Amino acid sequence: MKIVRRTLIAAACLSLLSTGAVNAETIVKTADVVIIGAGASGTSATMAAAEKGAKVILLEKQGVVGGTRNFAEGIFAANSSMQKRQGIIVTPDMAFKTIMEYSHWLANPFVVRAFVNRSADTIEWVKSKGIKFEYIGPGGGGRLDVDLARY
Ligand SMILES: Cc1cc2nc3c(=O)[nH]c(=O)nc-3n(C[C@H](O)[C@H](O)[C@H](O)COP(=O)(O)OP(=O)(O)OC[C@H]3O[C@@H](n4cnc5c(N)ncnc54)[C@H](O)[C@@H]3O)c2cc1C
Repeated sequence: MKIVRRTLIAAACLSLLSTGAVNAETIVKTADVVIIGAGASGTSATMAAAEKGAKVILLEKQGVVGGTRNFAEGIFAANSSMQKRQGIIVTPDMAFKTIMEYSHWLANPFVVRAFVNRSADTIEWVKSKGIKFEYIGPGGGGRLDVDLARY
């Protein structure tokens, strides 16, 4: 990975005075990679860059990290070892078609294809970082009774 060394100058509002005025302080930090947003994408990108030895700064505008992942009920990974162990049959082609149909084929097919093709590997990679999963579902509405004839 070619890393571009960048200097980040971040102005942070550290505290509110009792009068309500903002006491701003300028903080200067140096990093190889600066990632904006600590959702699932940002935290994964941070781990991936740090794994390759980069010094990373991850910025999040909200008081909590996780982004919309905090609302997720489950996770899917096509052809993953966990799905197979649970008897769930969801191939990357099935997942691709389901997601594209759900979006009326408006989603970017290249992004969706990359997402489903790498989903199983990604889960294994996240597990290798110490994240534990109790259950990986089939996705697409949580159905196990996928109509294989459609594919
Ligand atoms: C209600 C709901 C239920 C869902 N259920 C599921 C599910 O069951 N299973 C599943 O797999 N997926 C589910 N999803 C989808 C999944 O949660 C998202 O696809 C995924 O979390 C998106 O991650 P992201 O990092 O790309 O984006 P986001 O989660 O949107 O993260 C972006 C982050 O960037 C921050 N940010 C934005 N602008 C700035 C800025 N200028 N400076 C600093 N920080 C900034 C935001 O605060 C946020 O934390 C669900 C989504 C929703 C909304």
